[in-house]
Amino acid sequence: MKLHVCLLLAMLIVVGSHSQAQQAPPYPPPDDRYKVDILEVNGHPDDDIQFAAYVAKLVEQQHKKVAVIYATRGNSGGNAAGPEQSKALADMREMEARHSLASYGITHAWFLHGSDTPGADVLHSLEAWGHGQALEEVVRLVRITRPEVILTWMPNYVVGENHEDHQGAGVLATEAFDLAANPLAFPEQLEAPRNRLSISNYGEGLRPWQPKKIYYGSDAIHFEFFKGNGPEYATSNPSPGRKEPYSRVAAEAWGYYKTQNDFSDAQLKEFSEMPVRFIFGKSLVGGNAASDIFDGITSTPIPYSRPRGYEPPASGLAIELGGPWAFYHTFWPAHGLEHLAKLFSPEAQVTPGESLWVPLIIRNDTDSEKQVTLHSTLPAGWSQNPQATVYPVAAHDSYAIQLTINSSATQKGTWQTLTWNADSGGQNLGTVTLRVDVVSNGLPQ
Ligand SMILES: [Zn+2]
Repeated sequence: MKLHVCLLLAMLIVVGSHSQAQQAPPYPPPDDRYKVDILEVNGHPDDDIQFAAYVAKLVEQQHKKVAVIYATRGNSGGNAAGPEQSKALADMREMEARHSLASYGITHAWFLHGSDTPGADVLHSLEAWGHGQALEEVVRLVRITRPEVILTWMPNYVVGENHEDHQGAGVLATEAFDLAANPLAFPEQLEAPRNRLSISNYGEGLRPWQPKKIYYGSDAIHFEFFKGNGPEYATSNPSPGRKEPYSRVAAEAWGYYKTQNDFSDAQLKEFSEMPVRFIFGKSLVGGNAASDIFDGITSTPIPYSRPRGYEPPASGLAIELGGPWAFYHTFWPAHGLEHLAKLFSPEAQVTPGESLWVPLIIRNDTDSEKQVTLHSTLPAGWSQNPQATVYPVAAHDSYAIQLTINSSATQKGTWQTLTWNADSGGQNLGTVTLRVDVVSNGLPQ
């Protein structure tokens, strides 16, 4: 009897499992504690101050969520607070940044492994940081934070501080904007874990994410002339909670960066009371360059938007500026940022009487070696090395010319124009022009 009952129960259970659909538990959503409206991508601790008055208002009045990435921990540069340098300085600057951000409501900040690389050539920073690893880290953080908007630094070679770490942050942020929704970019980040509650688990379990807009700040001296190329926000409006203008909120946030605090009160006042200006990068949700940053942004995710990508230049013989200029010339169209090329023509700065590095590149995409003759037109009193004028350029190859331009000591405060023209076998390859601001330059080139 007992046996019969057990058999009957067993049969019922088997029948039941075949006739009744079993509901799976909901799939775990991404961790919402890290979802942000804005992700800032900066080069150094303290770069955030450039955006602070605008961001503090968004956090306080619109309850926007903001997270910050620093490509470096600021391990170079002088220490205005004490003797600590290098890695010790980096440990302090990380903490200064965390206190500074917390003063206006930001608690999520990540510091990448990059070394603070003082200079003006973005390719130095990308080399020093390990471009691949740094990009992997930024793409991961975009997928974790799922930002609607990325604020970063203009990928461009400018006259001004022109810090290559700022440019490098802008390059990484722009690349990550175009990669984070692409499942072939760092696919291991997107692999679903086999058992998320277990140990020794592979697969990071992230989702692809497409940010909607990207904007750039800049340390160019002529940033004010970029008016109209992006939104601009006054800093004079008052913080209801702090009973002071947001320029003061930013100035007080700056106060946490004691190791970098070498501004006079007057300089700090001038800096913090300037409007916060952005240069429009791109938008996948419409609007124009000067539209408000959150115009067109809703909480609905958008699909992957394929960037144009790299396209090789027209074949033949050509001459152009090399180094970072050649990089940006290719980078902008690949990422849909052609308009950045139109902000200003190629420029550089040199301390009067000192030398300037000007890389030129001659490309030969023909089937035969070419002899290319270079003609230089320099300002009075300037000279160039090497003095060779004829360059052999192999078929389907290029010749990278590294010029040292010696400036005149007598033209301080002027802009000078340098041009190079090239020809080969009666064919003109074109003209390269570089405008040079003759000023004291703070960073090595
Ligand atoms: Zn900086």
